[in-house]
Amino acid sequence: MAPNTNAEEDNLTCVLYGVRDLRLEQRPIPEPGENEVLLKIQCVGICGSDVHYVVHGNIGNYIVKSPMVIGHEASGIVVKTGTGVTDLSVGDRVAIEPGVSCRKCQFCKIGKYNLCPSMKFCATPPVDGNLTRYFIHAADFCYKLPDHMTLEEGALLEPLSVGVHACKKANITVGSSVLILGAGPIGLATLATAKAMGASQIYITDLTEYRLNLAKDMGATKTIQIKKNDSDEEALNYVRNEMGNELPDVTLDCTGFQQTIKMGIEITKSGGVLVIVGMGASGVVQLPLFNALSREVDIKGVFRYANDYPNALAMIASKQVNLKPLITHHFKIEDSLKAFETAETGAGGAIKVMIHLDETGDS
Ligand code: NAD
Ligand code: ZN
Repeated sequence: MAPNTNAEEDNLTCVLYGVRDLRLEQRPIPEPGENEVLLKIQCVGICGSDVHYVVHGNIGNYIVKSPMVIGHEASGIVVKTGTGVTDLSVGDRVAIEPGVSCRKCQFCKIGKYNLCPSMKFCATPPVDGNLTRYFIHAADFCYKLPDHMTLEEGALLEPLSVGVHACKKANITVGSSVLILGAGPIGLATLATAKAMGASQIYITDLTEYRLNLAKDMGATKTIQIKKNDSDEEALNYVRNEMGNELPDVTLDCTGFQQTIKMGIEITKSGGVLVIVGMGASGVVQLPLFNALSREVDIKGVFRYANDYPNALAMIASKQVNLKPLITHHFKIEDSLKAFETAETGAGGAIKVMIHLDETGDS
């Protein structure tokens, strides 16, 4: 049933004003324009980048200069449609792809819309995110969920789409041997995708045991725990040894630190692919490029996703992939500060922290 739009005009919204200055405040309920829908937001997952903006006030050149609504991994229910919307109706439950591109530039036209220079991406400054009860979004970037999918799963399509995009770039196929570096939500979403795409061997590393335990439950062939203070060489030798000296066809770096990217080059089979998803090291990193070129290890970058939401949705809807175990903590929007604290500290074995905005919804 469609929720009531006029519920006391309550549009509680979580706004980032600056470093560690996250506030809950009321905002007016917006009106959808042409080809837009008004959504009653149901679930918002907290991503590492949201936490990074809260803690540091920036990611690289994206700086929070004016108050910005936080959040970008969301699902909602359509409560109003603007003119021109034909594919969605009031009451539809949708996953929200958070980046709306211009649809006109050369990148958009060739389908690489994640590279659109005019991209408006939720909670990437100065664009507002969707940790708010009522949110306007472009209708063509909302994906209707089948009845048997939960709204939490709808929110999880965001990190899953990153995994889908990364695995497509890696050309994972039946029988692939895959190494994933880092078992955070992105590494785990990548694991689930690689498995669904037919990889036969999936190794995954992390520093923390609880994340590796979940990776094992999700079907990793072998989990490998790296010690925090291991040198690059020690970590590389350890992983090689644990893999029984079988080299992976594909390595996906889901941490983005120098040590792991370097390992990704050195450990990938000659002629294989290293896909860099992690953004941990935003500065300059030193890498053994000669090693990569002399063995034709292709290095590819991943920036979010493009045309991957429908695949992510299909994988969940068909039950090929189950990401529910990633959700370790639940909070109401009123407790957003606590939710962000949990995501930041990882307290209680946090992996994905989910914020709920509508008690009347089925999330
Ligand atoms: P996360 O911080 O929850 O997970 C990273 C994991 O890497 C942690 O579990 C950590 O213990 C592990 N780790 C750290 N150092 C390690 C090492 N030396 N060896 C093995 N594991 C190590 O983050 P996440 O949400 O899973 O995201 C992963 C990365 O992907 C982040 O850098 C994030 O910014 C990036 N990301 C990139 C894109 C993109 O479009 N390219 C999109 C989303 C996230
Ligand atoms: Zn464009």
